[in-house]
Order: sequence, then structure tokens, then C-alpha cells
Amino acid sequence: MNDIVYLNGEFMPLENARVPVLDRGFIFGDGVYEVIPVYSRHPFRLAEHLKRLQNSLDGIRLSNPMSNSEWQALIGEIIARNDGEDQSVYFQVTRGVAKRDHAFPIGVKPTVFMMSTPLTTPAQELVEGGVHAITATDFRWLKCDVKSISLLGNCLLRQAAVEADATEAVLFRDGYLTEASASNVFIVRNGTLLAPPKNHLVLPGITYDVVLELAAANGMPVETREISEQEVKTADEIWVTSSTKEVLAVTTLDERTVGTGKPGAVFRKMHQLYQDYKRTVMRQAA
Ligand code: PMP
Repeated sequence: MNDIVYLNGEFMPLENARVPVLDRGFIFGDGVYEVIPVYSRHPFRLAEHLKRLQNSLDGIRLSNPMSNSEWQALIGEIIARNDGEDQSVYFQVTRGVAKRDHAFPIGVKPTVFMMSTPLTTPAQELVEGGVHAITATDFRWLKCDVKSISLLGNCLLRQAAVEADATEAVLFRDGYLTEASASNVFIVRNGTLLAPPKNHLVLPGITYDVVLELAAANGMPVETREISEQEVKTADEIWVTSSTKEVLAVTTLDERTVGTGKPGAVFRKMHQLYQDYKRTVMRQAA
């Protein structure tokens, strides 16, 4: 692996990249990030990721240090400089380096960091067998639509999942489903696909949008609405979605079996549609 990263205008080996300790990303977690999956060296849904980056920057009142075409060129460059056809491009923008003070510094340049790691999509065994998830109370802040680098809440929740040998923690706030520690959540009840609405309580997942688009385009019954904890716990199917997990079926939730205990028919259909869609998009990009 080359492990060539980008930091503030320069490309360098990962081990040479250094950020001053007074960077507000380090001191306050004051920054936002994106993760873009790259298939056959083509970034997937780039425009949507850049739009979400802009929303996140607006959410923390930080101006975008680059235009979309500059981002596109930089992402293309990091892909070209790293090994592997399929990559996961991570980048973050922080409010820069300044004397420690909670209030925003004036005239400080944001820190921009980008790296690429090999993309690993779920093993066939997980796709076919499903995964275990736990439930947890969503104790994160009220701006979960901002893709903030301050991920302490998500880290604590994901660690609880790992300690329970689970892939994810499915989260509830005031008795309603929000999302999972690092993915969005869908359920199926009586053949209808249900998704919580996009609002300040969830990250607007790029995969979430793809799934809803594919469902609509293929005539699958879909509803976007608030989903109670009870509805999740008695769902026929539960899925988690993210750029790296794609679509995975949750087959046990806490101590309970979900549906038949195998990934359901609606999941299998969506998983196939998602793989077909990826192939079509990549063929068009090639
Ligand atoms: N919610 C949270 C909290 C996440 O961390 C992620 C993954 N970044 C998602 C949802 C899914 O987003 P996407 O489909 O864009 O990867």
C-alpha cells in the first residue's frame, strides 16, 4: 500500500503527515468529514457527498475551503496515488490551528486532510447470514445531520456493540428509531419498507437515498415516517445501510430473532438491486 495522504496543499506518505496540537480538530473535535466509496477507481455518488459536505460545513458555520471542482480533482488525485481499484476516501476539514478558545478564531485557515484506505465490502457470509445488532438509547447531540468529526457518542455506542459481539447498535430516542452508530436503519413490516425521515436526528446517508430511490424505481412499497421501538422489535426485517456496509440484514436484535432468522425476501431483492445499480453506475463512469 502506498498510503499517500493529502494535508493542506501537499501529498505525502501517511507517516509524514503532522497536525499541530492546537488544531481545533484535536482540541475540540471542531470539524466535519466525508467518506466516499470508490469502485474501479470511480468515486460513487460524488456530487451527493460534496453536497452533504457543504451542508455539514454550513451546519458548523465554516466556509468551504474548496470549490466542488477542486474537491473532485483532489479526490481523483488521491485515488490515482493510492493502490487498489476499490478504495474508501476519507477527508476532513477542521476550523484550523488557533490559541485554545471555544469561540471561532478569526482569519484562520481550515485544515484539510484526505486519505484513502482499501474498500472492504461485507463478506458473502454476512450478506447471506445476516448480522447481530443490539439496541441502545441514542444519547448523541441534536445535530446528527452534521457529519461531525466529534464522534464520541458514536464511538461509545459502537464499542457497546463490539463488546456484545454485534455489528451495530440500533438507536432509539424517546421511543423512536433514529439510526445506528455508523449506519442508517430500515425495517420491513408486512411487505412495506419503512425508513425514519431525514431530520436533525439522523445522518442523511448516501446509501439511504440510494435504497429509497431503488425501492421507488422498482415499485416496492415504501413509507418514510417515524418508527416506534415496538415496530422495530417486531419487524419482519431490519437492515443497516452505509457506504461500506452497503445493505446488510440484521437477523438477531438483542436476544430476539428477527423474522425467520435469515435475511428476508425484501432484503435479498434490495441487495441484488444495489449490486446491479453499482455495476450500472460504474459501467457508465468507465
Ligand atoms: N449514520 C451514521 C451515524 C453514519 O456514521 C453513517 C456512515 N457514515 C451513516 C449513517 C450512513 O451514511 P452513508 O450511507 O453516507 O455511508
